[in-house]
Amino acid sequence: MPSSFSSIQRSTILEGMATKDLDVLVIGGGITGAGIALDAETRGMSTGLIEMNDFASGTSSKSTKLVHGGLRYLKQFEINEVSEIGKERAIVYENAPHVTTPVWMLLPTIQGGTFNRLTLAMGLTVYDSLAKVKKNERHSILNKKQTIEKEPLLDRNKVKGGGYYVEYRTDDARLTLEAIKESVRHGTCAVNYTKAEDFLYKNNKVIGVRVVDQQTGKNHEIHAKKIINATGPWVDTLREKDESNKGKHLHLTKGVHITIDGKRFPLKQALYFDAPDGRLIFAIPRERKVYIGTTDTDYFSDKSNVQMTCKDRDYLLSAVNSIFANMKLETSDVESSWAGLRPLVHEEGKDPSEISRKDEIFSSSSGLISIAGGKLTGYRKMAERVVNLAVKELKKENKITYSKCKTLNVCLSGGKVGGSLGFKNFIYNKIQKGTTLGLTFSEAERLVKRYGSNIDQLYRIIQTNGEEAAYYSLTKEIFSMVVYGIEEEMTVTPSDFFIRRSGSMFFHIDWVEKWKTAVIDCMSHRLHWTVEMKKRKEEDLEKNIKAATIPIQD
Ligand code: FAD
Repeated sequence: MPSSFSSIQRSTILEGMATKDLDVLVIGGGITGAGIALDAETRGMSTGLIEMNDFASGTSSKSTKLVHGGLRYLKQFEINEVSEIGKERAIVYENAPHVTTPVWMLLPTIQGGTFNRLTLAMGLTVYDSLAKVKKNERHSILNKKQTIEKEPLLDRNKVKGGGYYVEYRTDDARLTLEAIKESVRHGTCAVNYTKAEDFLYKNNKVIGVRVVDQQTGKNHEIHAKKIINATGPWVDTLREKDESNKGKHLHLTKGVHITIDGKRFPLKQALYFDAPDGRLIFAIPRERKVYIGTTDTDYFSDKSNVQMTCKDRDYLLSAVNSIFANMKLETSDVESSWAGLRPLVHEEGKDPSEISRKDEIFSSSSGLISIAGGKLTGYRKMAERVVNLAVKELKKENKITYSKCKTLNVCLSGGKVGGSLGFKNFIYNKIQKGTTLGLTFSEAERLVKRYGSNIDQLYRIIQTNGEEAAYYSLTKEIFSMVVYGIEEEMTVTPSDFFIRRSGSMFFHIDWVEKWKTAVIDCMSHRLHWTVEMKKRKEEDLEKNIKAATIPIQD
């Protein structure tokens, strides 16, 4: 039975969860928790998921937004890792082509850089083979002239040649949401703004969680046979509550990205280039902007308030200016930014960039299962490993048997577009339909590309209530996104909408400024906010705009 994922039903869903005895309760609504919920639910386990903030509000909306094989990890001889996540790229793409797009990446070689022509050719050949890269996506090695032709902005005095290979660009927050929505469609109860405060025990075994609804302050108890801690950077915080934070622990490192307008930095080619300190940095064109990242520095401060500092910003700007000699980007060119934490498993004596990105599962004597590390790209395989363990333990403890992992062929919500090959045609047909509803070609195109096979639900909103858009001074496109977000994606606050449902906070800050009053009015009306509630949500949005646009002093 599909559950609801409407923010209007949020309290009811949470109260309903508290009356059940679930098979699995997942704590954490990032990509790791999303994958676990989908895996468990599709094996027939009754599953719940709670998230203390908004879904994907942790690291899963702050990544480089690539579904990638991790070419860099070949240097650390992490062969199995590269092989597994390399192959997963193709699966993520096939199951969710609307949130995953192949992009050709150029890796220029420079004197004293990470790779020379020979090591790059070897690396990319091994990579193609390990990741079983499709024929039409295999790499080529370019000479200097070909490299400069691909990206004329590069400093021709520095560049010696390059490697040309395919990665996949994604929208990390929407990938997470689509996985949760699919899990909900199969029956999972998922709620945001619900924090796990304490564990409940019986005979020293964890049997549930006391949660607090962050919107109402109400307490609830949720019971489950297996509790899975998928809280990313907060994994050790919950292990401490379980008194099981012993042995291995997390090592948090911060990664920052900045966005520059495409007119100021007219990059035409996605790049992976050497910074002066020998680290590799991405510069990726996207929606008329270019984003650049990332930094990688140890982090010990507040996990819920991670921001770009002036030093982070200056580091990224100088990395770009070092290889694009004539760009001379300045601090005033930075339009927006985001900063996230890598929940890495600590390795003694290693620098942040050298620590393995491998995932690791911790089992406590109370029965709590925790998972940390890993990458967005490998979320499906991580989930499979965790749920396999839960299934094994449930069989031993309760004599219940569940099936094997089924997610290999499960399309994420919005992904039923005829596979990666059928998506182009799908887009074409649905744009035609959108234009008959009064949308411009570009509006319809943006909607179809973002929502994939869920587009008909947005079109239905336009057909039935589209006239309401004018009342809020919204376009039909934005109105349908807001209403769909409330009814089908549990959008609770304007920040949820501008950061994680539409991605505009990081890529179109001017769009946020232009539409925020109208969107807040529409949400306030539909969600029946009091004056006080509306004010709090406006303040929260302003705080987030400030965090994205103004760096903090080091
Ligand atoms: P999170 O996304 O942080 O989710 C954990 C969630 O748990 C949070 O939303 C949090 O609010 C919630 N939570 C915490 N405590 C509680 C509680 N008590 N109760 C309820 N909920 C709670 N990977 C890639 O594959 N490709 C990339 O391009 C890439 N780039 C990256 C760039 C950077 C800068 C960083 C930092 C990481 C990058 N990664 C990338 C790695 C990837 O983003 C992470 O591995 C992944 O997002 C981690 O997801 P998660 O679900 O484990 O953690």
